[in-house]
Amino acid sequence: MKYISTRGDQTERGFSEILLEGLAPDGGLYLPTHYPQVDAATLARWRDLYGNGQAGGYAALAYEILSLYITDIPAADLKRLVDKTYTKAVYGTDAIVPVRRLKDGLLIEALSNGPTLAFKDMAMQLLGNLFEYELARRGEQLNILGATSGDTGSAAEYAMRGKQGVNVFMLSPYGRMSPFQQAQMFSLQDANIHNLSVEGVFDDCQDIVKAVSNDLAFKRQWKIGTVNSINWARLLAQVVYYFAGYFQVTKADSEKVSFSVPSGNFGNVCAGHVARMMGLPIAQLVVATNENDVLDEFFRTGRYRVRGSAETFETSSPSMDISKASNFERFVFDLLGRDAARTAQLFGPAIAKEGGFQLTADETARIAQYGFVSGKSTHADRLATIKATWDAHQDMIDTHTADGLKVAAEHLQPGVPMIVLETALPAKFAATIQEALGRDPIRPAALEGIEALPKRFTVMKVDAGAVKAYIEQHAK
Ligand SMILES: *Cc1c(COP(=O)(O)O)cnc(C)c1O
Repeated sequence: MKYISTRGDQTERGFSEILLEGLAPDGGLYLPTHYPQVDAATLARWRDLYGNGQAGGYAALAYEILSLYITDIPAADLKRLVDKTYTKAVYGTDAIVPVRRLKDGLLIEALSNGPTLAFKDMAMQLLGNLFEYELARRGEQLNILGATSGDTGSAAEYAMRGKQGVNVFMLSPYGRMSPFQQAQMFSLQDANIHNLSVEGVFDDCQDIVKAVSNDLAFKRQWKIGTVNSINWARLLAQVVYYFAGYFQVTKADSEKVSFSVPSGNFGNVCAGHVARMMGLPIAQLVVATNENDVLDEFFRTGRYRVRGSAETFETSSPSMDISKASNFERFVFDLLGRDAARTAQLFGPAIAKEGGFQLTADETARIAQYGFVSGKSTHADRLATIKATWDAHQDMIDTHTADGLKVAAEHLQPGVPMIVLETALPAKFAATIQEALGRDPIRPAALEGIEALPKRFTVMKVDAGAVKAYIEQHAK
């Protein structure tokens, strides 16, 4: 399998070449030259392999799907990497992504049982193993630099901890994360994980990352990289749980299901789009946003309008607080019949000059053929949904999943099961759970008392120079 750019660069690259890259050289995103088609016999075989969540079933399914897209890593090596990623020891169950029923036709698929209790672990754990493998093969090192306000940086740390050839330098705002978030990140004692606690706000952290990355000589000398959500390997890993969810909910491959996906950067639901393009019988892909509704606006109107920072709200589903959806270009490329020139025009000049674009009426009408619908959810909706779900089903959901459930309810179709993707556990968002339910969230037993563990972090001034000096001292 080869990969091309959404903006017209037709140089065909192998998976290993794009694994450690961000954007394509022309500024586009990488996509496979085509989506392998899954016929009825293959789907039946995969259903058997997954076997409703038997030990090793998820890893076996993941290997089948990944090997269609990763053809430049020897099969035995890929199998070993996948087998060591998707284990009960890491995800708590053999099913890895167990589905539970709320009521007839409405289900929740748990993507949130990894080490940081959020769906990013699903892909990031594999990425850690792929990075270690590829860096060793090349004899190279990588220094990952990132900024986090607390929710997403930990997934990268837990994926890369102890990995050969990789260091992580993660900036976070000093004193501004919840005690639980701090404990999650700062309790890691691995020598290759560096928590830099910056005496400023999250934007200061991001500015430092930009400043360091813009120093191209420094970036090259110290092999600075990122693990952002546009990485194709992350998206690919996420395709697997759409199949695993489908197999748990259906008995035969003639049945259709819909998925509702709490969305921000469009990485999660874009994997659903890929699964559907491969032939998985998905009726609807429901894009659920919070108050940051750039995607909902697009799917209702065909208008894509990037928001400024004044228009980007801090909400109680913070991992969906985005001003532009960084993976979204991949879907638009497919929607436009893979017209790279038009995609380049829309995501280059149109966004730069006009802050967005409006598709034509014909193009907008085509969205429905891809199964996409959307909706938005507010803080009040989240509180009401968390409370109603607890009262009716004694099921405690987090704020992001609540957005997904709220919007899912607006798109139910008779006879089509709706699977809401659970993207985080409530334990991470105690303040909002308190507000909704008047009690503390349930916490997985393994995380009881983590606030008391010894912490390992370094306090730094808001100073890119100081961060560079720290990297020079600690990068291997
Ligand atoms: C990252 C994240 C999302 C949004 O996923 P995208 O791939 O950015 O659309 C939703 N919920 C949680 C808990 C997340 O961490």
